[in-house]
Amino acid sequence: MKLVFATNNRHKLEEISAIIGNKIEILSLRDIGCFDDIPETADTFEGNALLKARFVKEKYGYDCFADDTGLQVEALNGEPGVYSARYAGEPADSERNINKLLANLEGIENRKASFVTCIALVKDNKEYVFYGEIVGKIIEERRGTAGFGYDSVFVPEGYDETFAQMGENEKNKISHRAKAVKKLSDFFNTL
Ligand code: IMP
Repeated sequence: MKLVFATNNRHKLEEISAIIGNKIEILSLRDIGCFDDIPETADTFEGNALLKARFVKEKYGYDCFADDTGLQVEALNGEPGVYSARYAGEPADSERNINKLLANLEGIENRKASFVTCIALVKDNKEYVFYGEIVGKIIEERRGTAGFGYDSVFVPEGYDETFAQMGENEKNKISHRAKAVKKLSDFFNTL
């Protein structure tokens, strides 16, 4: 079986291939010659993931899955949410995003937050969605250098270290993305 993963992000492609193994051939957008600027204009993770997967299916004819991820902070009514990548505006910049997040949370006691990933799959003209979530808290200053995005200020529940202190191996065992990918992989095993 051949499936497109609507991304060119090498880390995501490797992570997914490691979990799914070689029973499915996973192609990137580059592999199918797709260089379009795929719209991500929905206001939910599911909406954006579906937009991307449907776009590839409709324009290129391949069955496809796509993901959308973000950080939801309880005291900020779920912000930055679907705007996580560009929370501090264009161009997307993690350092400025973290500065804005810490400034908006200054003096606020409730630091509860979660990362959410939604994977949408369009296969044989049916649509499926798989969610992964990890709950934790936003600390007051950065700790650690591994990872990306908001990793240096996020401590998962039950742990003392941030995602950026844990390193990729440990993070990938418990992360939002790993949980969603596992559900996708379990689904493939039922086919
Ligand atoms: P994407 O949908 O995977 O591109 O993620 C959107 C944005 O959410 C990224 O640009 C990051 O700011 C943030 N993000 C997603 N996953 C993670 C993660 O594992 N750690 C930290 N930040 C993340």
